[in-house]
Amino acid sequence: MPAPAQVREVATHCPYCALQCAQTLGAPDEAATASGAPVSVAGRDFPTNRGGLCRKGWTSGVVLRAPDRLVAPLARDAAGDLRAAGWDEALDRVAAGIRAAQERYGPESVAVFGGGGLTNEKAYALGKFARVVLRTPYVDYNGRFCMASAAAGAIRAFGVDRGLPFPLADLGGACAVLLLGSNLAETMPPAVAHLAGARAAGGLVVVDPRRSATAALTEDGAGLHLAPVPGTDLALLLGLLHAVLAEGLADEAYLAQRTTGAADVRRSVAAWWPERTEAVTGVPADDVRAAARLLARAAPHAGGAGAYVLTGRGVEQSTQGTATVTAAINLALALGLPGRRGSGYGAITGQGNGQGGREHGQKADQLPGYRKIDDPAARAHVAGVWGVAPDALPGPGVPAVELLRRCGTPDGPRVLLVHGCNLVVSAPDAQRVRERLAALDLLVVCDVVPSETARMADVVLPVTQWAEEEGTMTSLEGRVLRRRRALPPPEGVRTELEVIGALAARLGTPTGFPTDPREVFGELARASAGGVADYSGVTYARLEAGEALHWPCPATPDDVPDHPGTPRLFLDRFGTPDGRARMVAVDHAGPSDRLTGTRPLYLVTGRVLEHYQSGAQTRRVPALAAAQPEPYVEMHPWLADRLGLADGELAEVASARGTAVAVTRVTPMARPDTVFMPFHWPGEGSANRLTTDATDPVSGMPEFKVATVDVRAAGTG
Ligand code: SF4
Repeated sequence: MPAPAQVREVATHCPYCALQCAQTLGAPDEAATASGAPVSVAGRDFPTNRGGLCRKGWTSGVVLRAPDRLVAPLARDAAGDLRAAGWDEALDRVAAGIRAAQERYGPESVAVFGGGGLTNEKAYALGKFARVVLRTPYVDYNGRFCMASAAAGAIRAFGVDRGLPFPLADLGGACAVLLLGSNLAETMPPAVAHLAGARAAGGLVVVDPRRSATAALTEDGAGLHLAPVPGTDLALLLGLLHAVLAEGLADEAYLAQRTTGAADVRRSVAAWWPERTEAVTGVPADDVRAAARLLARAAPHAGGAGAYVLTGRGVEQSTQGTATVTAAINLALALGLPGRRGSGYGAITGQGNGQGGREHGQKADQLPGYRKIDDPAARAHVAGVWGVAPDALPGPGVPAVELLRRCGTPDGPRVLLVHGCNLVVSAPDAQRVRERLAALDLLVVCDVVPSETARMADVVLPVTQWAEEEGTMTSLEGRVLRRRRALPPPEGVRTELEVIGALAARLGTPTGFPTDPREVFGELARASAGGVADYSGVTYARLEAGEALHWPCPATPDDVPDHPGTPRLFLDRFGTPDGRARMVAVDHAGPSDRLTGTRPLYLVTGRVLEHYQSGAQTRRVPALAAAQPEPYVEMHPWLADRLGLADGELAEVASARGTAVAVTRVTPMARPDTVFMPFHWPGEGSANRLTTDATDPVSGMPEFKVATVDVRAAGTG
């Protein structure tokens, strides 16, 4: 009888969302690992999850043993088939393709697309590789689909973008929370515990066109659910601010001392009285007033226990995303919330490292430390760390959607390297993205499983995943966390740092590309020094010791890393030159798609509890796939009756971009004028076949949340 496997406990964090729930992995010994013994997962006490995990977290160990795990590079052969290749052959082919494109078309013929799930070290190395080795401005990441509007709104108002500029646990003390466009109860279930104080006080206000699981938390006197017409969130926020000002509920002393621009904003909302707001949004005027009063009563200037305004993708993924976030911030500022202990404004980051992913240089307009790439001082500092001349660094690139639009065009990128992102499922107007990728000379995908995008690639490079690697992640509250290796990767798999280093060596690099994450982090910390997101006082040793380090965490002048980090931002001043928050007047314009006689319904897309992003990982977990096996379209009983559709029947949903076929689910959760589809599946049921690639002009955020569609029984068109 074989000896029982020795199990080693490893403290790490969930591979999925930005809550980064703490986990303890039970890692089998080497022999048991080699024979495929499972990795056990348990929740671990931590301020964000308090020991809890959601279904995705509990089952996260299963992906480590995915039967179709990529364990060897793949290269497309002359017959058009992907076949196993050696690492040297695969890397040589990638390097040759890059060289050929750049010799013929110049540096801009190569693009890099990163991901919000990459560790800080990988995100940093990828941005550096794009700028220093490829010398291309074409680098962006899928966080552009996730946090771009919130980031742009926060930078404009506060001078700093950190999703939550306070610890999540602070929410627990508040007696009112306005939650706009976030279905926390499904996307981050352990976070719901932090809403207990607001619910007990009857102060949870949820804005969502659906009666989502989170909206249902307002039942039984716990608060209010406001269900605006899709695409009118901004109008609702203008109405809420109007009500606050009209009823004399604003914190006038705070506005005078800590903000600029209030007079303009007052004028801009003057016409948004609650009845007009009702006419545009469908939210009853009395509910608008009630929500405004409820928030104002909880605000510090009224002697309340505290209030928060929080935004999520539901209001941010819009062609007016930055304006909508700005309106939410204006409301929070009028109530005197940001920069006060126990109150505030924040955006709930979605992807696991959506926060860190946008701080270290894989974004088109940024260098490490959240520095602007067109700032000469920032270029000089980062170029100094990299050992290159500032002039050698390319300028700003273009946001993700525009980068994809240019792929395979005569003047655009001919080679695309994709890291940690399943674009043909998760990008808007996905069929068009598929066409653009097919038009490339060379598509290279680094992934752990053969995602739908990997299957299109010319070269696939198999890389380590979460529990097989060391690194750091930055959670939704700006806290730097250690990701720890619990088991060795399968033979034949490399880390992305090794892949980047090997490509840099083949292409010729003027600077080093270390492959040890600890060394990369040290360099990243130096590159970030003096920037907005300053990590220079963070070390692996401090994280190992359990210190809770939220950036900015600068090194002290004598280089002793003892700064305590900054859990709460803006308590004394905002990050603007004059220290005051900027209020900016914005107005409602509505979504890019409009209702027409042939497309008379709204489509809203979103997520379900069981799946994460494109579903490339979670669709491979049998328990999750069994619970949510297929794409569906949710509709109100009244609408289903009108369309002649019954629960379980196939419906055809058509937008100006394309058509999708999905199973009908009839539920009173939906508005009668709106259907809902989750976007986690590929193929003919893919919701992103329907979404528009129209973007917010400020942030580049695509409008995932509103499209107009026609719906009918499948096969009756
Ligand atoms: Fe926590 Fe998010 Fe992982 Fe669920 S998916 S366990 S909420 S980190």
